[in-house]
Amino acid sequence: MKKLLLTAAAAMCSLAAVLCLTGMAANNTESGRGSALSQNMDTNTGSGQMPSWVGELYATPAPTPEPTKDPDATPEPTKDPNATPEPTAEPTNAPLPTQRPTEVQAGTSEAETVKVPILLYHHIAEDFSESRAISIISPRDFRLHMTAIKTQYTPISLREYVEFVNCRDGSKTLPRNPIIITFDDGYLSNYEVAYPILKELNIPATIFIVTDTVGETAGDGKVEFSHFTWEQAREMQSSGLIEIQSHTNDHVKLGELGNDTVNYELRKSKYLIEKNLGTTCDMIAYPYGSYSAAAIEASDKAGYDVQCLVGDDATDVDYEVNLPRDGVKNLTRITVSGLMGNVNVLELIRQALANEIVQ
Ligand SMILES: [Zn+2]
Repeated sequence: MKKLLLTAAAAMCSLAAVLCLTGMAANNTESGRGSALSQNMDTNTGSGQMPSWVGELYATPAPTPEPTKDPDATPEPTKDPNATPEPTAEPTNAPLPTQRPTEVQAGTSEAETVKVPILLYHHIAEDFSESRAISIISPRDFRLHMTAIKTQYTPISLREYVEFVNCRDGSKTLPRNPIIITFDDGYLSNYEVAYPILKELNIPATIFIVTDTVGETAGDGKVEFSHFTWEQAREMQSSGLIEIQSHTNDHVKLGELGNDTVNYELRKSKYLIEKNLGTTCDMIAYPYGSYSAAAIEASDKAGYDVQCLVGDDATDVDYEVNLPRDGVKNLTRITVSGLMGNVNVLELIRQALANEIVQ
């Protein structure tokens, strides 16, 4: 089902470059490396182990300094990340352009092969160990990621992409260099930290929530980190910038469960979202990237027209961007590490977009 393929040599080269850059990005977090990618991918429960060879690549010391970054210099603002955000250093905080870059029209041959990366974030927190970096990023780095991305890409909502892919009359368009931001699990930090930044920068996002943990508080024995409430979800959704969709009810591996449990997870989550938010729940992100043919069929029948099959699994290094011609039932996402600085996340996206399209 892979849409994009790297030649073996190109893939290794590409991956090594990304991972080295990732390692060097630890300048403003912690110094070690190597263990992050071998840790659990998700903060709720464990899974998604990286293969050992990836860890080895990741652990390889970078032979040359990063050309665009002097470690002694301070290319990024060093202000207190807890301070009120100030639109000082980032050029993209300037007034937003009213017109988007040249558009690609649905239904044209060009539209079939436009590459669309979907980024995946989880929790946002100031302090975290390197081993949790695959699912946690600092507020400062998250802001830097978003502002950097806006300098080179045009963020669109997942809904806009879906409507473009499904458009048959040519009435929909996509901007050049589109990119999509998503979150999994539904952490309170998405509401408290990410939402204000996304509003400020006018970046849409989709949050896939675990419905059973909505409003749960850290320390209550059910979740490690607090999750936002239905009221907060409604507030975000009513802004028009944030869309809330399903990540199952109990954060389970749908690919490993029987039909009855799969149906329960799919239908209860959809029911709760629609009941509490008054909107249609028709998108699902599979926890841990775990799915099966039966789970996909059950999702179809439950009304999930949009399915993110992978994303919690960062091992999918050769399968990182989406093409409209492949529809919206096998979307792939790029898991962003909290060890990446803004330069490195741009490089990660560039590498993913450099993947060759297999005809
Ligand atoms: Zn998850």
